[in-house]
Amino acid sequence: MNAFFAIILLALAVWLIPHFYRRWRLQYRRSQPLNPEQVQLLTETLPIYQYLNPAQQRELRGNIALFLHDKEFVGCEGLQVNEKMKVAIAAHACLLLLGRKNECYPNLYTLLLYPDTYVAHEIRREGYIETSRHSAREGEAHYRGPVVLSWGDLEEDLQFPQRGHNVALHEFAHKVDEEDGYFDGRPLFEPSTEGANWAEVMSQEFHRLRQRAEHRQPPGDKPSVLDLYGAQSPAEFFAVATESFYTIPIAMRTLHPELYRELSRFYRLDPATLVSGKSGREANV
Ligand SMILES: [Zn+2]
Repeated sequence: MNAFFAIILLALAVWLIPHFYRRWRLQYRRSQPLNPEQVQLLTETLPIYQYLNPAQQRELRGNIALFLHDKEFVGCEGLQVNEKMKVAIAAHACLLLLGRKNECYPNLYTLLLYPDTYVAHEIRREGYIETSRHSAREGEAHYRGPVVLSWGDLEEDLQFPQRGHNVALHEFAHKVDEEDGYFDGRPLFEPSTEGANWAEVMSQEFHRLRQRAEHRQPPGDKPSVLDLYGAQSPAEFFAVATESFYTIPIAMRTLHPELYRELSRFYRLDPATLVSGKSGREANV
């Protein structure tokens, strides 16, 4: 009998120790403070940070500390990766996790940074036919693999947020989308009931953007802030909508109120209200 209980205890220990170790490690890494230079860089590169409440700021800094410790940044084509690049990218990645239970992109180990737009070699197979081509890219997110970013393009996005583009938010939205196992434009809702209206709103807005992409300005169509690139697929639509949601939230809420509401529910943040609540300040987020 004693041997039986010993086996049960051993099995429990084998199962529980890695579980508790993982939890302890996440907590410990999140508790490590950013140094003053990193906090300064965070404030400079993520304008919305100043509008978050102290608890949200603390949560964001904790995830950034974890991200910076766990992920490897690799410079490509001679790029020397510096602290500003690392903090800016980690800050945008972790902004998307705010308020949601997460392990900070556990399937992401490496970020590849190019100095500017880079050329990727792409091979496509359709049946027995294989085609290859070269295409210029600002970034890409590989399924359960690395994120690739052009630092030059991200720097330009940070300089001109009013354009509604941000390649880091775009690629990390793909990583958020992949959490449920699919790049399909529907992220994992917890609890799932919170996503009850998601499919209907997303498909309406996606269809509207496709119409715009095909016919430029369909009759009766209202103005939109969404980039036509989002018309390529539901996954690209989610990534493009995420960019607009964070970079031009007031325009997004005005022109796409239902879409804004769904994104706000998922990301557990209302950036338009946050930035408009600061009277007398020019809000570029
Ligand atoms: Zn994309």
